[in-house]
Amino acid sequence: MSKPYAIGVDLGGTNLRAALITREGQVVKKIKEPSTGLAGGDVIQLLKNAIDQLMSPEVEGIGIGVAGVLDRPEKRIMISPNIPPLTGFSFNDFHYPVPVYVENDANAAALGEACAGAGRNFKNFVLMTLGTGIGGGIIYGGKLLKMAAEVGHMSIVADGKKCFCGNNGCLELFASARAIIASVIEALEGGAESLLRECCEGKIYRITPEDVYKAAFEEGDSLSREVLREAGRYLGVGISNIINITSPDAIILAGGLIGSWNIYVDEAIKEASKRAFKSIFQKVSIIPASLGDEAGIVGAASLVFNPPAD
Ligand SMILES: [Zn+2]
Repeated sequence: MSKPYAIGVDLGGTNLRAALITREGQVVKKIKEPSTGLAGGDVIQLLKNAIDQLMSPEVEGIGIGVAGVLDRPEKRIMISPNIPPLTGFSFNDFHYPVPVYVENDANAAALGEACAGAGRNFKNFVLMTLGTGIGGGIIYGGKLLKMAAEVGHMSIVADGKKCFCGNNGCLELFASARAIIASVIEALEGGAESLLRECCEGKIYRITPEDVYKAAFEEGDSLSREVLREAGRYLGVGISNIINITSPDAIILAGGLIGSWNIYVDEAIKEASKRAFKSIFQKVSIIPASLGDEAGIVGAASLVFNPPAD
């Protein structure tokens, strides 16, 4: 007989989130632990501890969303830039009395938004996670496409900076939180005027994306506004490429950077509207995700209740 709960896990470079989740996508019990800077064995131990705390005879299975590129048949992480010690790890070595499903974390988030969030009313959409890096997940015909969907690593500047992935000029080098902070620091090092010099007691290397939004929105700081606009413009280039290739019903934007929607995303939409095919662009809704931090765990749990067909 089928059981009422699944364990959904979102294993990222900053935090591990795990929860007991119902078939309807309701979070019953939740655990959050920092995962930054741990060795490979310690990350796995953290994951096992979280699963053990949530495991019971009422659990149908375990779904895990993990930051990295996967070899799905082998359940192996081929590369995980945000959790480097996990590169090469296979979840086939994970032994539990219930089935274990593994997906890329952005794909799991797309699935979460499709099941219980902003994607519920769209059959075809692309989710972009806009945070330290940029990830993606594609829902087509109501189903998750089991593919890498590494939208952050589409090249948007042919001779741009070298990326760890091997490519040059990747979207995430221009439009992610890491890119925004790098631009701000470069400008400040070059002597630019900005209210950001006053935050963090003058320690510019401690500036966070939140400091940049705050300076931009609340204080009207022109450097912060310019950096967010520039990052948004590049994001718009990426979005126009995705729209032209996939003609989705929606682009759903998730992650910390949507906190600066009014500058960064507005600029992206403006840029994408200039570049994408008009007839395709007009039919696309560009909207924020609605599940926040819970999209990944809800999506991972739904892998258990609706295992994707091979
Ligand atoms: Zn790249």
